[in-house]
Amino acid sequence: MEKEIKKYARQRDEMVRRQIEARGITDPKVLAALRKVPRHLFVSEALVDQAYGDFPLPIGEQQTISQPYIVAEMTQALQLTKDDRVLEIGTGSGYQAAILAEIAFRVYTIERIHTLFIRTRKLFDTLHYHNIVTRYSDGTTGWKDESPFDAVIVTAGSPQIPSSLVSQLGVGGRMIIPVGNQFSQDLIKLYKDEKGIHQTSLGGCRFVKLMGEHGWKEG
Ligand code: SAH
Repeated sequence: MEKEIKKYARQRDEMVRRQIEARGITDPKVLAALRKVPRHLFVSEALVDQAYGDFPLPIGEQQTISQPYIVAEMTQALQLTKDDRVLEIGTGSGYQAAILAEIAFRVYTIERIHTLFIRTRKLFDTLHYHNIVTRYSDGTTGWKDESPFDAVIVTAGSPQIPSSLVSQLGVGGRMIIPVGNQFSQDLIKLYKDEKGIHQTSLGGCRFVKLMGEHGWKEG
């Protein structure tokens, strides 16, 4: 048991050094979260040995847990502080939400596939992530009752930026969303201030589809 724990801590440290720091991620809070969250518990038992590799992995239902680097890049871009309330669309394995929960005050995460929602909600309980609130619904319409948010992160690729999510972002808020076609997207960062919305691109990426009212339509 003790030996296992040490083995994974070593793998995480190596992951952070080789994949994350080596590629220019510097936010100490992001690096500490990646060193702490047991990524191997967010994948199926068959994939535990690959959990700290430099790639995404399948999590069932044709969905994936993102590559560690993309999780780090998106989290750093959100510029989180310990008082922030964050909305995540696409709970999936729960790994990204756990990373956010290590840094921010509270994470609100929405998943549209019921089996993933149930499985991951249980995992959050097991790992004592009491500052993660889960919801089973179409996340493209956001979570109006809990808005405005300090940060919004969409972890699935969208054909456009859902206006509902932008409107639930508070003044001073940051949002990260992959926008493009189903094969490749641009990682877009939005910043909202009194004057309006400011948009920059962080480069190319590839995510599974954001399905729903303001995402890709079924069929
Ligand atoms: N953040 C996840 C990534 C999972 S992949 C992780 O760390 O593992 C993207 C997830 O987005 C999938 O689970 C998919 O079912 C979910 N998704 C797609 N469209 C959605 C929508 N409209 N609302 C909520 N979740 C959605």
